[in-house]
Amino acid sequence: MVTQYKNLINGEMVETSEWLDVVNPATEEVIGQVPACGQAELDKAVAAARAAFQTWKKSSYAERSAALKAISKTIADNSEELYRLLTSEQGKPHAQAKQEIMGASFMMAAQSDLVLEDELVKDDEKENIRTRRVPVGVVGGIVPWNFPVSMAVQKIGPALLSGCTIILKPSPFTPLTTLRLAELIADVVPAGTVNIITGEDSLGPLITAHPDIDKITFTGSTATGKKIMEGASADLKRITLELGGNDASIVMPDADPKKVAEQLFWSSFSNAGQICVAAKRVYIHEDIYDELSQAIADYAKNVVVGDGAEQGTGVGPIQNKKQYDRVLELIQDAKDNGYKFLLGGDSDPSGTGYFVPLTILDNPPEDARIVAEEQFGPVMPLMKFSSEEEVIERANNSDYGLAGAVWSADEAKAVEIAEKLETGTVWVNQFLKLTPHTPFAGHKQSGFGAEYGIEGLKEFTYPQVIMVNKQNVPA
Ligand code: NAD
Repeated sequence: MVTQYKNLINGEMVETSEWLDVVNPATEEVIGQVPACGQAELDKAVAAARAAFQTWKKSSYAERSAALKAISKTIADNSEELYRLLTSEQGKPHAQAKQEIMGASFMMAAQSDLVLEDELVKDDEKENIRTRRVPVGVVGGIVPWNFPVSMAVQKIGPALLSGCTIILKPSPFTPLTTLRLAELIADVVPAGTVNIITGEDSLGPLITAHPDIDKITFTGSTATGKKIMEGASADLKRITLELGGNDASIVMPDADPKKVAEQLFWSSFSNAGQICVAAKRVYIHEDIYDELSQAIADYAKNVVVGDGAEQGTGVGPIQNKKQYDRVLELIQDAKDNGYKFLLGGDSDPSGTGYFVPLTILDNPPEDARIVAEEQFGPVMPLMKFSSEEEVIERANNSDYGLAGAVWSADEAKAVEIAEKLETGTVWVNQFLKLTPHTPFAGHKQSGFGAEYGIEGLKEFTYPQVIMVNKQNVPA
């Protein structure tokens, strides 16, 4: 019998009569089961979070900060068990799974020191005016399957630090590591402050619609983000949405192909391309296009695609069948249209595991589906450009606006281009870097609001202004 992972409600690990199977994407074997929750379980979790909020909102900053540090330590102390489990359900190679787990621990600790200070607006003999931040209340957190632990921690940490309590719903595809973490922190945080419940996608709208939840913080696709915004409008819940992206990387003619090929490769292929901020469109100046595209393809030929649990694997499988079919469909569309491939293009869906060969396209047109749509798979379209104005226009020609990158030997020029990109983050001569103290915020249809840093923390609070008239004391 497979292991059954329970939910965390009000400090207790609980189960339901219905269970969902969780599959290892490399072997297609069922590796665990999790509760299939519905309205009844959600109501219990919300009631627990609501009751805990009455106490937690009055807790001291020191107590809240300590809770984050304790969770961080629990993750680090159990990192080996957690990263192995993460690989088995998500597919990413052990080294990348370990990075996710240790990164989650680091982010939790680093954010534990963020302070929302009161803002003194005026203080003279007549009046004292001050803005303070108060927690919004009970938070519903909904997360995807590409970075299940990072995303869970990214919702739980700021919720607790701001004085909120939370009900978190992992993706039905990747709930195991999060539920194991739930078990590990059940005695680390006060009962009811963190509740983790699992279910099908259909549990999501129940959370969005729940009248006793005050805020939704969501990471996932733009399509689902729009539904959440709609659902949350009924009672004007506060929302933070981190959504999809179609990030452009721009490589200027002065970049040394030998220096950037490997980094560009990983900016597209880390986590099998299933990263919201992966480089999904790579624009290379025509002067270095041939040399650099060949260098990337040569590097790729030595990267092993396989089971993330096996030593030597660089790129794992696609996390689930639905996404696997979608990536294959985009590749087939490129083949049907006669676009050129530098690598990949052929796959064998009859084999075991959702593996897609590394796929690099040679200068497909801008309106190719594989360029215009978010691939979310091990696919890298390389495109030629000739002028700066042209490439900026092409990069910005997207409904998405999550992140982007500029590669150049001329840092000042690269920054000048970076500032013209319509995205929330732009990397210059680096990639996929997030820091705990800067806001991560999608522009356009890549998001609403921000995560990380003080701006991210503020999203879990309301401003409250206290105005004291010192000259009108009614005594
Ligand atoms: P998804 O939108 O299908 O699902 C995300 C979560 O929402 C899951 O937990 C799912 O069960 C739940 N859900 C599904 N339908 C819902 C509904 N109607 N109401 C409420 N919840 C619902 O996304 P996914 O396929 O799991 O993840 C991939 C997407 O996530 C990509 O588009 C990727 O770019 C995006 N993503 C964004 C970021 C970011 O920070 N901007 C990070 C990671 C992933």
